Amino acid sequence: MSKIAVVVLPIPLNKPFHYSIPESLQSAVSKGTRVLVPFGNRKISGYVADIIETTYIANIKEVYSVIDDAPAVDKNLFELAKWLSTKYVCSLGEALSAVVPSVLKPPKRIFNNKPEHRFGINKSIRPTLTQTQQTITDAITHELKNHKYEAFLLRGVTGSGKTEIYLCAIEEALALGKSAIFLLPEISLTPQFISIIKSRFGDNIGVWHSKLSVGEKYRTWLSAKKGEIKIMVGARSSVFTPFEKLGIIVIDEEHEQSYKQDKKPTYHVREVALERAKLSNAVVIMGSATPSLESYWRAQNGEFRLFELHERIDNKQLPPITIVDLNCLSAKHKIISEPFKNALIKTLARREQAVIFLNRRGFSPWLMCQACQKVWQCHNCSVSLVYHKDSQELVCHYCGHRQPIPDKCPNCSSDHLSIFGIGTQKVEEELKKNFPQARIARLDRDTASKKDAYKNIYENFKNEDCDILIGTQIVAKGFDFPRVTFVGVVDADTCLYLPDFRSAERTFALMTQVSGRAGRSSLGGEVVIQTKHPQHYALVAAKQHDYKSFYEQEINFRKELNYPPFCGLVNILLRGKKAENVSKATDTITQELLKWKKENNAAIEVLGSTPAAIEKIKGMFRWQILLKGKADILINALMQMKNCSLPSGVIITLDIDPQDVL
Ligand code: ADP
Ligand code: ZN
Ligand code: ZN
Repeated sequence: MSKIAVVVLPIPLNKPFHYSIPESLQSAVSKGTRVLVPFGNRKISGYVADIIETTYIANIKEVYSVIDDAPAVDKNLFELAKWLSTKYVCSLGEALSAVVPSVLKPPKRIFNNKPEHRFGINKSIRPTLTQTQQTITDAITHELKNHKYEAFLLRGVTGSGKTEIYLCAIEEALALGKSAIFLLPEISLTPQFISIIKSRFGDNIGVWHSKLSVGEKYRTWLSAKKGEIKIMVGARSSVFTPFEKLGIIVIDEEHEQSYKQDKKPTYHVREVALERAKLSNAVVIMGSATPSLESYWRAQNGEFRLFELHERIDNKQLPPITIVDLNCLSAKHKIISEPFKNALIKTLARREQAVIFLNRRGFSPWLMCQACQKVWQCHNCSVSLVYHKDSQELVCHYCGHRQPIPDKCPNCSSDHLSIFGIGTQKVEEELKKNFPQARIARLDRDTASKKDAYKNIYENFKNEDCDILIGTQIVAKGFDFPRVTFVGVVDADTCLYLPDFRSAERTFALMTQVSGRAGRSSLGGEVVIQTKHPQHYALVAAKQHDYKSFYEQEINFRKELNYPPFCGLVNILLRGKKAENVSKATDTITQELLKWKKENNAAIEVLGSTPAAIEKIKGMFRWQILLKGKADILINALMQMKNCSLPSGVIITLDIDPQDVL
């Protein structure tokens, strides 16, 4: 009798399927290996959850082939997948496909010239730790040696030496024969950072990010599995690195939005890291100058051990911040105010460098008819088209639709069309006009998308072949250039008034991060932030470098309005091509949820049931329902929705603990 494989498939259905194992594959199939199986008229890869002798199911199909030589998921990772599927309400198969993505499979070609591994740690470049760094490292090492789960939160101002603590803790873990995962936001995986960490740990390291080819990914994954590398440095999904003896997970810039996955399973990497560490008796270190409100609150409540670093290394001062009120300025000065310009003049005169920041999100330049006020919008998405000067086009930043700039307004035939709002291109133009001698470069999604462009612009700035660097988020994170003594924020308001409860928190974090780019050496530095809301508590606190005061105000506001961390949140998003069907489906689900709430006397709030803030994207209408309540009650409520039948063409997605609700 041939044996039977119980296979979990990456489909929404939470039920395993039985396949018989042909004689030729008997020895290769074991628990945890991935197999290719027929499903409908396709072949898909699934995970062998179990092997059994008999089945009551008639006419089962055969396993087609085996993908891995050895189990792809071990017991801990399997447990982690189970946890993922419960917490983020998806099937086990969907959770497993996040843990081991299906692209990870042996290539057809055998790779030769396997890289040689140079083990060993280069201790010579390690600085003597400060007293505070030593205390924190000792506390972490203690837990590592105890082989016990513990979570640490480090709040340390920019340049306070957090990275050095992570690296020392990783050294300790390695010395104990354990492995380490070092998570960074994708945007921080700069060549600069990778070369620093490689010089320290040699070829012990694997690097994991979205630009790797499929082959590189598989090779890196396999080296981790075989223990050929001991450290994985990477973005979000490297939290699933298949290390056998995991000792430590570092999450740098813990507050970063990119740590949340937006497709199924919609996990937050922090939660996955904590759960994985619990399963492996490992240590988690989270660090940030501006920890997320939730994490700081959890630390205050004893869930994480909190350490704070208030001073920069060598007592370098945090740069003074000047807030400029844009309301008092004439239109002529709206982009660059006097204080902004003067600071820049002085910086250039001293032959130092400047970083000019503009957050593109929200308010990019758009086209408007002066006569009838028409604003050009994307016909697929309910958002304004963005004016791109270089290509003389209007571009939709959601779906990529492009159209040429019209000569006149189709509504009223007026040819008085004007550009409103500021983008990085406009800022660049303005600076070039004001500083014709200066060497100016721009780094944003447009300029960085060209091959090697990012690296070239970065190297130029590093080699001081560029005086002023203008950019979006990309320049706000982790850039460490000693000669940058001026940071200018053109407009701090771009995400301050988005309809989202985290807007203030985001603005505070962003301003703090950007300011942290200035004055990193003995040259000192200064920051100018332009805003129309100089009294906003997020900006006042940022000016004073005062996280605590921001935290106190924000946490009170969250408590009053019952937002996380005081409740769990689920965003139910419904999408479809027909507006009527989407609104009807939203109604049905809302009714069902309200009925369940009443019958069970459940402490949940059912909110929204309205079109989303961005009503239409890529031709799909979007409605949303927001659920508030305790996490476990919310999961029960969501189970209820399975009973609802929805009109065809309506897609429903659940975002558990959403990072934004736009
Ligand atoms: P953070 O991660 O908090 O922004 P870093 O760890 O990057 O801070 O440290 C800031 C700067 O100080 C870096 O240039 C780093 O090399 C240096 N540094 C860190 N710790 C020490 C130390 N103990 N002695 C001397 N220099 C240090
Ligand atoms: Zn018009
Ligand atoms: Zn569009």
